[in-house]
Amino acid sequence: MAFSVCSAPLTVKQKGYRDLKVIIDFDGTLTAEETQVKALAGRSLDTLAHEIIGVPREELAADYQATRARLMQAPHQYWWEVNGLIASYCDEGAFILNTTTLQVMLRDDVLYRQAVTAAFPQAEYDPVIDCTNYLFHRHTAELAPAFRPAARDVLASLIENPLHTPIILTNSLGDKVTRHLTTLALDEEIAVLGDTRQYEMDPEWTRHFPHPVLGQIQVWPVAEQYRVDLRRPAYYRALVRAADDGSSLAVVADTFSLPGALPLLMGIPFFLLRTSYTPAWCAQVVDAHPLGCVLDDLADLPVALEAIPAA
Ligand SMILES: [Mg+2]
Repeated sequence: MAFSVCSAPLTVKQKGYRDLKVIIDFDGTLTAEETQVKALAGRSLDTLAHEIIGVPREELAADYQATRARLMQAPHQYWWEVNGLIASYCDEGAFILNTTTLQVMLRDDVLYRQAVTAAFPQAEYDPVIDCTNYLFHRHTAELAPAFRPAARDVLASLIENPLHTPIILTNSLGDKVTRHLTTLALDEEIAVLGDTRQYEMDPEWTRHFPHPVLGQIQVWPVAEQYRVDLRRPAYYRALVRAADDGSSLAVVADTFSLPGALPLLMGIPFFLLRTSYTPAWCAQVVDAHPLGCVLDDLADLPVALEAIPAA
């Protein structure tokens, strides 16, 4: 069973863990991405229609809506794929659903795919992934900050606690995140590890992770229709580096496959913020893990951190 946030908070002396780095995801965790996704999709369609593909925007928007509906009818059959592996299922977050919808739409249509291939000739991953990364980074940077109501107080309380160090870890670019954090006017600057690429999947990576029932695994079957791939060497290295100075770690995020599965199987507590878009299976797998905790409100994080089982 997951540990309970209702457990009596441990006193500082009883804690038994070292200084704790609290690694917090940005989009969707500190921010209400459900309020931003419509603008993000709209701007992405503008760019695709006018700069990349050259088709009428209404046609593209209709395709987008139809694709999105198709994904949501069978979310276990659609995912964000990188190097042939599943980085995230399509329905895990509002931004992820937008990204996956664009990816499926651009892959499935020959003319779209050709235009994207021409626009991203030297792709780092493949043209469609590079295109959706480009749209995400460009257009999320243009959106105004949309912090969740508790974001400022939670960060301030982590800064104030001498045993806790907040760090923002995100797939977004660090400069956007730093710029938005500045608007909170906190007493201290928070370290930002931007562009961490939890989605960077490597099928050649040989590291396995111990699972109490399944033994050494690389792919974690978390539910009947969902298997979460742990082959994320860039994210793994970022977590190992963060603990290099002897700190303990905890990770807090609003989605599961990208930021949550790997920490749990590395023995790192993971807090899933349940949002309006969180699928039931994500909350269930986190709740069932001894190091997992589901938060219904970001405001509950400081108390929940006090209840982390001693290492
Ligand atoms: Mg997120």
